[in-house]
Amino acid sequence: MTHNNTSENGHTPAGSSREWNFHPKLPITLSPVFDSPPRPKAALRWIVGTWLTFSPPVNHLVFAIVAYVFFWPSASDIQTSGVSWMVQIFLVNLGATVVLGTALHLYLYRFNGQQQRLKFDKRPMEKSARFTFGDQVLDNLYWTLVWGVPVWSAWMMLYFGLAANGQLPVLETAGDEPVLFILIFFLIRFWQSAHFYGIHRLIHIPVLYKAIHHVHHRNINVGPWSGLSMHPIEHVLYFSSILIHFVVPSHPIHVIFHLFSLSLGALLSHSGFERVLLREKETLKAGSFHHQLHHRYFECNYGSEEVPLDRWFHSFHDGTSAARQRIRAHKKVVRHDKHTG
Ligand SMILES: [Zn+2]
Ligand SMILES: [Zn+2]
Repeated sequence: MTHNNTSENGHTPAGSSREWNFHPKLPITLSPVFDSPPRPKAALRWIVGTWLTFSPPVNHLVFAIVAYVFFWPSASDIQTSGVSWMVQIFLVNLGATVVLGTALHLYLYRFNGQQQRLKFDKRPMEKSARFTFGDQVLDNLYWTLVWGVPVWSAWMMLYFGLAANGQLPVLETAGDEPVLFILIFFLIRFWQSAHFYGIHRLIHIPVLYKAIHHVHHRNINVGPWSGLSMHPIEHVLYFSSILIHFVVPSHPIHVIFHLFSLSLGALLSHSGFERVLLREKETLKAGSFHHQLHHRYFECNYGSEEVPLDRWFHSFHDGTSAARQRIRAHKKVVRHDKHTG
């Protein structure tokens, strides 16, 4: 572990600091895919590299394939089985959430499977009056299971109901358009990132923040169950990312992967730990320091690493104190322009 020892090239190695129990190498970076001038090699390495390790997208794809092959209702089930296919979709989503959320929470927080190693914020989950039931974990479970899973399932029921009845463009089998089939997985990651930035910026408008988004921001330090702990209107907006499949011809695996990336992805990205260690070995990439910074400092990092909208709109916090000052200075300029312009 290092203590803020910034090297000559301006990088701080991964380690601990006054603010963080653990931080990754600073400054953190965004995907190089949209860099200008273009860096095709770095972009390709970034795009392909994600799929060559046990990264969150690989985790979501495994969950999606298992869900689709073993548990998902077929188009003919949907046309003929009344409402039982809807119950089936709800139970698959609930099952996936409970399995991943419980595994992460028990391992990282209840049994302290890796103690404080690679944990961003050393504080434990809180008991405080600002949470429903006065308890962060119970609050997070309530908003996730009572609101999050039903809203997300309702979006999927709408999509699969329409698709089964021939109302939406679909890819019947992966073999029909193999290149398109693969490209859509890449497209989903970029679309999800840009969509998230858009709706997230929207609900940071003060009146919407007070009415809706404050529920998610009760969590200043986060745990796995904080990921989907949102006001139901935020759930509706967050999962509306699915609307891309209403226009882009998609296979059910794409749609399930996309919604698992949003839901299971949020459990992982809020886990509070950079990676999950099993027997001292780094296995699954889990938390997102990028988003952890948003929970602590609010007015930065509205998006995710895939599409650098935060950089383009001057809200990117790369974890360094220089970035914090830059963001503050930019906000002052914007406010000043508003008052004088
Ligand atoms: Zn926010
Ligand atoms: Zn969050």
